[in-house]
Amino acid sequence: MIRFESVSKVYDDGTTAVDNLNLEVPTGSLLALVGPSGCGKTTSLRMINRLIDATSGTITLDGVDVSSTDRVGLRRKIGYVIQHAGLFPHRTVVDNVAALPRLLGGDRKKTRARALELLELVGLDERFAHRYPWQLSGGQQQRVGVARALATDPPFLLMDEPFSAVDPIVRAQLQDEFLRLQGEIGKTIVMVTHDIDEALKLGDQVAVLRTGGVLAQFGTPLELLTR
Ligand code: ADP
Ligand code: ADP
Repeated sequence: MIRFESVSKVYDDGTTAVDNLNLEVPTGSLLALVGPSGCGKTTSLRMINRLIDATSGTITLDGVDVSSTDRVGLRRKIGYVIQHAGLFPHRTVVDNVAALPRLLGGDRKKTRARALELLELVGLDERFAHRYPWQLSGGQQQRVGVARALATDPPFLLMDEPFSAVDPIVRAQLQDEFLRLQGEIGKTIVMVTHDIDEALKLGDQVAVLRTGGVLAQFGTPLELLTR
């Protein structure tokens, strides 16, 4: 479970990006954070893995305060998928997926074998494993990004606009495949999107933020649509 308790973020220039946010993401569920550009979605997400530190309030992962966990510890526990996948350009696909487990001390053969399994899981067979990112389509790169985020077998996954950089047809396909994958892996996920349809389609729960980082609405897609 991921829990935000009265979490706020004020940047150094005085901008309040997140204002007194209270949220709970039950284990195995996906929370979609949605709202207009600049409403604090990415800031909220990055406070979970401490790419940004909260100004006040507490974020806990299964009851453990993230501020008492070092960033390397958080990397093991939290996979991270970003827009455009953010792959390492000079590494092959399989090396991209194996990079973090290797960095964290994993055995070369085992991390490689696991990377190939994960690529298979996201629909990329061995032909793609030895290509470089630039030799893949945008949608294929996003699949590699998802496989890479899963490489340390983290219980938590953060996704920042993971499907928005591809065309609508590929996006719909990736969303469907992701739903199927999540059905199998059951991670605890926070996903940022500016697309309300995507939030309603993928979220078990949806949090709508408005400008100033204030939570406007929170509930299941059904609750939001019938309220
Ligand atoms: P979103 O992801 O919803 O587009 P962000 O979390 O990126 O929103 O940004 C929330 C607010 O914080 C915006 O007003 C943005 O301009 C501001 N902001 C983001 N990063 C910084 C920063 N490093 N310094 C100052 N203000 C920032
Ligand atoms: P390196 O240590 O190889 O230089 P970086 O620390 O620069 O790698 O990270 C590169 C990218 O890895 C980041 O931009 C981020 O998107 C991605 N990344 C992968 N997994 C995580 C994670 N669990 N937490 C944060 N970033 C991650």
